[in-house]
Amino acid sequence: MKYKDVTKCNIINPIQMGTDAVSRKAASMIIEGNEKELAAMEQFHKGNREEGQRLQEEFASAFREEYKDKDHCPCKKICRYHGNCKECVAIHRAHQEHVPNCMRPMLNAKIKILSGLTEHTIANEIEPPHENLRK
Ligand code: SF4
Repeated sequence: MKYKDVTKCNIINPIQMGTDAVSRKAASMIIEGNEKELAAMEQFHKGNREEGQRLQEEFASAFREEYKDKDHCPCKKICRYHGNCKECVAIHRAHQEHVPNCMRPMLNAKIKILSGLTEHTIANEIEPPHENLRK
């Protein structure tokens, strides 16, 4: 599956879900499914590493500029590490239970495909836990 498909999924598209509300409101640059980064990955997959790196740096450079004073983190939880990716990722690596919240839509899109193998009956066996969200 191409990464591009992630943003087109009705169920987990972070923009449609509202989990990217901060980014959507404050910035014109959308991170998830970003066209420039998708183009970079396409070049990497073709073996054109140099062009992939060039495009990737264009994405990173645009990200740096766009979000230098804005909140880039879509996580809605009440958390003192909000937007502090370095410590957020370290915490998740340390406890090993799950990934940072910003990764959920991407992983859920892939899990959803696998879930189809059992006609999504896994939904009968699981229930999302309560989460304390920011207002
Ligand atoms: S790594 Fe953590 S702090 Fe960074 S964007 Fe993702 S959820 Fe937010």
